[in-house]
Amino acid sequence: MAEQLRAVKGMNDILPPESARWEWFEDKVRALMARYGYANMRTPIVEPTPLFVRGLGEVTDIVEKEMYSFEDSMNGDKLTLRPENTAGIVRAVTEHSMLYDGGKRIYYIGPMFRHERPQRGRYRQFHQVGAEALGYAGPDVDAELILMCRALWRDIGLHDVRLELNSLGQPDERKAHREALIAYFEQHRDQLDVDAQRRLYSNPLRILDTKNPAMQALVEGAPKLMDYLGEASLAHFNAVRAILDANGLEYRINPRLVRGMDYYNLTVFEWVTDRLGSQGTVCGGGRYDYLIEQIGGKPAPAVGWALGVERVLELLKELGSIPPAPAPVAYAVVPSATVLGNAMVTIEALRAAGVSVLMHAAGKDGPGSMKSQFKRADASGARYALIFGEDEVSQGQVAVKPLRDASAAQTLRPLAQAGEWARELLNA
Ligand code: ATP
Ligand code: MG
Repeated sequence: MAEQLRAVKGMNDILPPESARWEWFEDKVRALMARYGYANMRTPIVEPTPLFVRGLGEVTDIVEKEMYSFEDSMNGDKLTLRPENTAGIVRAVTEHSMLYDGGKRIYYIGPMFRHERPQRGRYRQFHQVGAEALGYAGPDVDAELILMCRALWRDIGLHDVRLELNSLGQPDERKAHREALIAYFEQHRDQLDVDAQRRLYSNPLRILDTKNPAMQALVEGAPKLMDYLGEASLAHFNAVRAILDANGLEYRINPRLVRGMDYYNLTVFEWVTDRLGSQGTVCGGGRYDYLIEQIGGKPAPAVGWALGVERVLELLKELGSIPPAPAPVAYAVVPSATVLGNAMVTIEALRAAGVSVLMHAAGKDGPGSMKSQFKRADASGARYALIFGEDEVSQGQVAVKPLRDASAAQTLRPLAQAGEWARELLNA
């Protein structure tokens, strides 16, 4: 016997009926994006490693230890499974000169890869939905993107996430703050944990994001970036806030909110919940006005967010908010092979008219008893059983039996005019 092969650790199969919840969610996302005027983009899952390791900028967890990188065995090219999609979108937008005639609003849905310790809400292959507005500098688009998230939470019935907001200012402001931060942590070196020691000079801002309870007091007292922001940065931040306020969207300003990616400036935000343990960030984003030029494009401002699909769906489940399982409208009971030809012509006509029909599939030994077929019809959740009995079919008819309404009577319908009574099945 061959060895039983298994999926790679931390990478999940998404099976029915769970996959129906994914499709439900993706449909909500697509409808939302259409309402806000965001167009879909699909970039490759494999990208050149230098797209993520840019030399410039801070060393991030992702680049430092989470990437699946390998060499192309044919030509030695350095490649990486995308850990996120923003860089890929920016590469593609630049490569195809998409900003030549103004800004673009883009969204994506797809798998990302990070070599993390698998646990609930944290996987090695996971999925993100993301939205990016490229070529727009104003605070209006930051606010639009945040409001879009709220609209999505409403559309899917997610009411237990809250917004945290911060401004990271501009690079020169960050630099002044960074120096003050390093000086502060150097003074308290004995209180830094191993992670913080490691980040002290590579990415001190990220120390503020520590989940270590023993370091909370220390980071609480650290110099705040907000105090280093200049007038223009503060004005941008206040303009975003004013739009959110006008829309009645509540948020908390979290001066310790920094993002895992190095490329953010000005507005950053996260949608968080207390229900998923330390995997409580459901969605995060912000402005990245310097990334396009870092990747070799003509300088252009941009802002965006990404949400974790697994976390959103787990949170929905946690809240007991499960969308209805999809069920076929009708289940076709086919008692004998002799009627199969006629039955399948009618079934095809119904499907062409938009009725979902699950057909009883015969095994090697034939279709099985009527009893077992009805059992399956019931279990399928179908509203009707279509019974293609030999007598009915010989008279050009099929019996339509309502399965969910005990008071409704079984009726006979003409096989040849399925297109006409299909509408009744759909409307019931
Ligand atoms: P975390 O702090 O939880 O590691 P992050 O800052 O690395 O998150 P981002 O890079 O901003 O996350 O990605 C956006 C969203 O993608 C996160 O808010 C989260 O919902 C989801 N996400 C990130 N990493 C994973 C993962 N390994 N498994 C599942 N979802 C993830
Ligand atoms: Mg992470």
